[in-house]
Amino acid sequence: MKTDIQIAQDVKLVHIKEVASKLDIKEDDLEYYGKYKAKLSDELWDKVKDNKDGKLVLVTAINPTPAGEGKTTTTVGLGEALGKLNKKAVIALREPSLGPCFGIKGGAAGGGYAQVVPMEDLNLHFTGDFHAITSANNLLAAMLDNHIHQGNALNIDPNQIVWKRCVDMNDRVLRNIVVGLGRKTDGVVREDHFIITVASEIMAILCLADDMKDLKVRLGRIIVAYTYDGKPVTAKELNGVGAMAALLKDALKPNLIQTIENTPAIIHGGPFANIAHGCNSVRATKTALKLADIVVTEAGFGADLGAEKFFDIKCTSAGLTPDAVVLVATVRALKYNGGVPKTELGGENLEALKIGIANLEKHIENLQKYGVPIIVTLNRFLTDTEAELTYVKDFCEKKGCEFALSEVWEKGGDGGIELAGKVINTLETKESRFTPLYKKELSLKDKIETIAKEIYGAASVTYDPAAETAIKKIEGLGFKEVPVCMAKNQYSLSDDATKLGRPTGFNINIREVYVSAGAGFVVAITGTVMTMPGLPKIPAAEGIDVNNEGIITGLF
Ligand code: ADP
Ligand code: MG
Repeated sequence: MKTDIQIAQDVKLVHIKEVASKLDIKEDDLEYYGKYKAKLSDELWDKVKDNKDGKLVLVTAINPTPAGEGKTTTTVGLGEALGKLNKKAVIALREPSLGPCFGIKGGAAGGGYAQVVPMEDLNLHFTGDFHAITSANNLLAAMLDNHIHQGNALNIDPNQIVWKRCVDMNDRVLRNIVVGLGRKTDGVVREDHFIITVASEIMAILCLADDMKDLKVRLGRIIVAYTYDGKPVTAKELNGVGAMAALLKDALKPNLIQTIENTPAIIHGGPFANIAHGCNSVRATKTALKLADIVVTEAGFGADLGAEKFFDIKCTSAGLTPDAVVLVATVRALKYNGGVPKTELGGENLEALKIGIANLEKHIENLQKYGVPIIVTLNRFLTDTEAELTYVKDFCEKKGCEFALSEVWEKGGDGGIELAGKVINTLETKESRFTPLYKKELSLKDKIETIAKEIYGAASVTYDPAAETAIKKIEGLGFKEVPVCMAKNQYSLSDDATKLGRPTGFNINIREVYVSAGAGFVVAITGTVMTMPGLPKIPAAEGIDVNNEGIITGLF
């Protein structure tokens, strides 16, 4: 079996203008970044904005094993298969971060014969969007420290600075640092922190902004610090909005590339799925809906986090209506949820599967609450046995759920024909009655409790004193009618990664609450959340190389 990068490098790419022509995009509306990548111009949006919207299909998953269960792979393969069934389809995905690429997880361009290409470009610098976001983030940080150094007219309390610097790298030593050491001219000494670029609020803002005008409004709202008397200080007050927006001018435009089978893929933005909402940009999704009959998109982590935020944050704030949801399961993850350690997932184990299937059941019930038709798909691994596959299929059919086996990793679009057929049939015959989980008028606590009880299955919710205080303060600042962005571990429905399957009777404890005023949501953190990951003992970076001809190896 070839590796992902070998498969990707064997592909005959077509010029991006040919990919664009499948969506009736003219050359004039493309901004080329070489032959195989392009940004979609602002003028294109003006031309297509009155087109009828296509159908929006979300790909989400059950609680995964640490390796990921194939949402991106399924999204890509489904897009390709829809094309084979003569649908005008486009894929809308997030841009990968360099951190995981050099760490444990590898890149995020799909896998096997369902990948977007050129995968090296996508996983490394791509079109520079993340550099632009990093620069805008750090410009604001520099202006903030300079403001204090130059006399602090805004009365900023250096102990209440909430804006952090960022870099797109897993680099644990930057989590907690001291800045301003040295002489008087070297600035005010204070504790500071780095986060990874995908955790920057600017990333979330870029992904939720409708256009440049909205981007600027959101950038201006960013709370960077509080004054000595506890009043918020915003990016607007630091006069940083114009320059940040200028840095983000091109990053705001969606990127077009192709899949292995030359299906168009719009790849744009990549916010964290814990302290942010974890989906590609609103601008990319809206453009995709104007260009194609069916748009297939992915949300990060399992459905308890990814789909919930896609529906309750992205769709509600952007006015999007999803038409169907594909729930990806794997035999491996079901067995993992049934208590099998991750090193033993290869062998048949029907007993564990029967226990772990409760996780799939809960996700089906959760998604039903949104009124969007569901198709369950089993992403087939070569180690899965017939008995295991049959068990999952029978379970779904007994639950009255559409089911399709997917073999896109092994066979590309051909392996997704059954799934694509079920998706098309669902879109044609079942109506989506999309309703968000909660009303925006609810208090922040009521929203948190609704998510914890309805989606996670928690029995109760408790709050650390600091979280209680923060909620009162945030509601007092006028941020009550915004969605809540939950930060929770992705492996369990609960806040304890070891409680697998379908845990019940547990408590969710909210440790910290803060507002991302520019993004337009309140973040509620359970447990500890890592916003600056570290590298493992043997980082993936050690296996990456480039030869004298410029061919990259070791990416996955
Ligand atoms: P997610 O988007 O859910 O995180 P990905 O689609 O990125 O998952 O897949 C995670 C990893 O698993 C990738 O390296 C991919 O190549 C691999 N993978 C996905 N599906 C399969 C499969 N059916 N068989 C083998 N490997 C797979
Ligand atoms: Mg993915």
